[in-house]
Amino acid sequence: MAPDEIIARKLNVNGIVQGVGFRPYIYQLACMHQLTGEIANTSSGVAIHVEGSRENIDLFCKCLTTNLPPLAYITGIDEAPDIVRELNAFSILPSTPDLKRSTLISPDVSVCDDCLKELFDPTDRRFAYPFINCTNCGPRYTIISDIPYDRCNTSMKHFVMCDPCQSEYDDPQNRRFHAQPNACAVCGPQVTLHGSDGGLISCENPIERAARFLKEGKILAIKGLGGFHLSVDACHTAAVERLRRRKRRKEKPLAVMSPNLEAICRYASMTSEEKALLTSFRRPIVLLSKKKPCLLSDAVSPRNLTIGVMLAYTPLHYLLMDQEFTALVMTSGNLSEEPIAIDNADALNRLSGLADYFLMHDRQIYLRSDDSLVRHVAGADRVIRRSRGIVPMPVFLRRPLPSVLACGAELKNTVCLISGSRAFLSQHIGNLENSAGYDFFCMTIAHMQRILDITPHFLACDLHPDYLSTRYALEQQQAGMELVRVQHHHAHIVSCMAENRIHGKVIGLAFDGTGYGADGAIWGGEFLIADETGFDRVGHLAYVSMPGGAATIREPWRMAVSCLYSVFGENMQNLDIPLFREIDPKKLTFLQDMVAKDINCPRTSSMGRLFDAVAAIIGIRYTVAYEGQAALELEMLADDGESGSYPFEWLSEDGYQILPHPIIQGVVRDTENGVLPAVVSARFHRTLICMTAALCREIRRNSDLNRVALSGGVFQNALLLNGLIRELSTEGFTVFSQSVVPTNDGGISLGQAVCAAGNRDKSD
Ligand code: ZN
Ligand code: ZN
Ligand code: FE
Repeated sequence: MAPDEIIARKLNVNGIVQGVGFRPYIYQLACMHQLTGEIANTSSGVAIHVEGSRENIDLFCKCLTTNLPPLAYITGIDEAPDIVRELNAFSILPSTPDLKRSTLISPDVSVCDDCLKELFDPTDRRFAYPFINCTNCGPRYTIISDIPYDRCNTSMKHFVMCDPCQSEYDDPQNRRFHAQPNACAVCGPQVTLHGSDGGLISCENPIERAARFLKEGKILAIKGLGGFHLSVDACHTAAVERLRRRKRRKEKPLAVMSPNLEAICRYASMTSEEKALLTSFRRPIVLLSKKKPCLLSDAVSPRNLTIGVMLAYTPLHYLLMDQEFTALVMTSGNLSEEPIAIDNADALNRLSGLADYFLMHDRQIYLRSDDSLVRHVAGADRVIRRSRGIVPMPVFLRRPLPSVLACGAELKNTVCLISGSRAFLSQHIGNLENSAGYDFFCMTIAHMQRILDITPHFLACDLHPDYLSTRYALEQQQAGMELVRVQHHHAHIVSCMAENRIHGKVIGLAFDGTGYGADGAIWGGEFLIADETGFDRVGHLAYVSMPGGAATIREPWRMAVSCLYSVFGENMQNLDIPLFREIDPKKLTFLQDMVAKDINCPRTSSMGRLFDAVAAIIGIRYTVAYEGQAALELEMLADDGESGSYPFEWLSEDGYQILPHPIIQGVVRDTENGVLPAVVSARFHRTLICMTAALCREIRRNSDLNRVALSGGVFQNALLLNGLIRELSTEGFTVFSQSVVPTNDGGISLGQAVCAAGNRDKSD
């Protein structure tokens, strides 16, 4: 065979390869290797036909996966010889309208290096233009109203491209070929600065002026990609405190934004994994360890060893940060638990009491998307809040399932739509306890169904009768949709199994704060044997009273009283612990009575509440300003040099019931003896790790199961997660935990969806 003989080959590439600059990439790669041929979108990816010398085609195939556009994700490539058609060029075939509809929508992408270079190049025609973007970067998910992903279906439809922009858009050799949000200062969106009354502040450079206001300690509302941020200079304590007062956010940590890694170095330390996370195109908030002393104001994350940090991700942010800031507080533009503002008029209306000035623009945000939050723990990146930059990337399941809509949990709500082997989790919707949250929930469901073109065959929701998400599901059921109700902790475990693509029975440890149990009690310290079709509750923390119900979540001292009473009875008030010196004796006696007489005392097996009880007994926190605060402060306090632990004990009637007594007694005795809280905290964590591993061994003996799946909000505790994974692995268990999907209630919708779909489709 002559070496220069012309051959042909076809390649079917599957995955996320549409609408991500993949076709121009292949076009350029083919030209580089002197190949002719064509590329077309298919329903599952793209089909490529190339012609040329065997050597060049081999090289082309080898290079194909090495330098992919950042958003492309290949799940498989099929290669086969093809018939030579003697084509004399390489062309990109237009998509049929049908195929265009099935294209996966990309998440929003931080401004790329090429665009950044142009942004700061005084000779470039887009110099200092805050909406510069290209096929590899810019807004996507947040500006789409319908599919296919064309400019007319985005909020860019109001801007008609000027001639230079249009010719870039039309040229397959250009970085802006079919970049839907393509724009420049002549034809695109503009930034404006407004006072808190909405009045326009006319100035030559609104961004520079906004930066000056920030330096003076003013609060700015800044319109970003997925919504408004409230911003102050993170080094300006008075400004940070004023923002906290106005936003009614007393202690919950605030996220900050910096222009580059050098700036972050001044106040936080980073591992190479954390640097990679920070600089990824998703630009999440990354939880980092604060440096001591920390250059930033203490009010940013008080009493916290960590700080949430992100790099600038839009050109507007870069221009703002270029005015010599180490860090800006960038917290969501809302009043405590409401959804963030996205619309200019709505922002002016809702945030005028909070912000002194508004830096806005006229590119509309169609779909609200908070910043994503990620932490690198126990060898993996753990997504804590899944939103901007990630959504709507699907979770790839191990097999196709029937279409289903899962409505998620009550707090940290997300919803999930399954289509085939793809599970699409929504962006973080948040708290469904208010009507604004519920509206956002309904709107997101409608929007996702439209842009993903999914019509679910049935629905999944929680067992809790009062959740608004349950009520929504019941309404749809009345309209004729079939509904499957999934227990909260079962959903947690199946969520973990789904993202790890495993099936069959596992030992599932679901540790969290609150979830409605199959017996009507509040569960949260659960040992399940589960798969996607069902579960057995083989063990749990023994029930204790939750005096006052939901009030105990805000007041951990109530849980302490409940646990102490269950161990020491009437004698508990004789204990020499700080709790009884700090809390009003009248309140104490009243609560003790409630427990003794079992008035308004739901039962709980919650692990989160056990953390609360211990935090209050050792005197570090009696009430909390935000969810999980007591447990978080208990974790951060732990002395990492301490290796002691307390005894533990379980009953094995009616499943294993772990008794709180030995642990509580140990904590009390240490506290009475003046052992430092840091040491008690370390011993408490160590006890949980040993106890959990011991019970897993016991369950393994009886069930022959060797795989353990960990899920639930308590596993956000790095000390516990790290320690337990290590301990269980040493014992020969295979351990699965969550990383691309939140381990907290943000991951519940995925578990619900897979349980519901798996129940309808038992084909394996
Ligand atoms: Zn770009
Ligand atoms: Zn233009
Ligand atoms: Fe939960």
